[in-house]
Amino acid sequence: MIAFARSCGAIALNVFFLVGTGRGRHVSNISRAGYDRTLRRLTRAARDTEGIMIRAKCAPHFKRMAIELDPDWPITTAHGYEAGGCLAGTRYARVTPSGEVTPCPYIAHSAGSIRQRRFAEIWQDAPVFARLRAPQLTGRCGICEYGEVCGGCRARPYAATGDLMGEDTLCAYRPDGTGAIPQIPQAAPPVAWTPAARARLDRCRPSCAVSSGSGPRPMPARQAATR
Ligand code: SF4
Ligand code: SF4
Repeated sequence: MIAFARSCGAIALNVFFLVGTGRGRHVSNISRAGYDRTLRRLTRAARDTEGIMIRAKCAPHFKRMAIELDPDWPITTAHGYEAGGCLAGTRYARVTPSGEVTPCPYIAHSAGSIRQRRFAEIWQDAPVFARLRAPQLTGRCGICEYGEVCGGCRARPYAATGDLMGEDTLCAYRPDGTGAIPQIPQAAPPVAWTPAARARLDRCRPSCAVSSGSGPRPMPARQAATR
């Protein structure tokens, strides 16, 4: 797959792991052990392959694999999309065709409708987003030393048990009680806006606007949560 992506001239290869929700419930999935093996191979390829960025998506324990493989790899300090972690409710949301806002396409829980409230208000105020930004995880994820840097997929336990904070059902890891691995703070990189992008941003309402020369208003950080 990597060779094929390169032969097509791709600069990034994002491998999405199945989240068994909706019609995906009826699609056979790989086992926990198979998921672990596949993710480990992908992580090694991500570190060792030059000229193309390889990431696992909707597989937050990619981050655990990265730390286990090479604690000095820069990705171990990366956050969010770059790190392959879960973005639901912290950097990402979905709006359905009927206007419902959910934390990600695989979490059916609606935080509200943009037919009734502004998206920005829902994003800032909805309780489900507050829970995802300060998660109180349970099961193995709740006692896992990688809880802060990984945290698991929230859609899988929600689909399996209705508990948004439950353990990621496809992670094979058994926490060993050695103590939490903290998320390393990361300075936001400077953003250079083009005049056209700047003009579009300036048309946004104040809560979405950016101050001169800076990046977008920072999202509430999941990493700031105490777990
Ligand atoms: S909850 Fe997070 S990891 Fe899971 S499918 Fe949604 S965005 Fe991906
Ligand atoms: S148990 Fe949960 S927090 Fe720990 S590595 Fe697995 S998915 Fe991540």
